[in-house]
Amino acid sequence: MREGIHPEYKDCVVTCSCGNVMHMRSTKASIKVNVCSLCHPFYTGQQQRILDTEGRVESFKKRYQRYNARMEQAKK
Ligand SMILES: [Zn+2]
Repeated sequence: MREGIHPEYKDCVVTCSCGNVMHMRSTKASIKVNVCSLCHPFYTGQQQRILDTEGRVESFKKRYQRYNARMEQAKK
């Protein structure tokens, strides 16, 4: 390895928002992640929870309801 051009590769603590702490190696001393293999729905098998802070899912459902109603009326 050429000297003076490589970043230092040190022990790293990775902290997840779920509280899980992992130790690995990185050029950074600590990394904060939002999701990890302990809490990601893909691994937990839980149904995905959608963080609906602005009511967007609700408004989408409402809009879709109106669309369905219109399609029902069009059939008649
Ligand atoms: Zn996690």
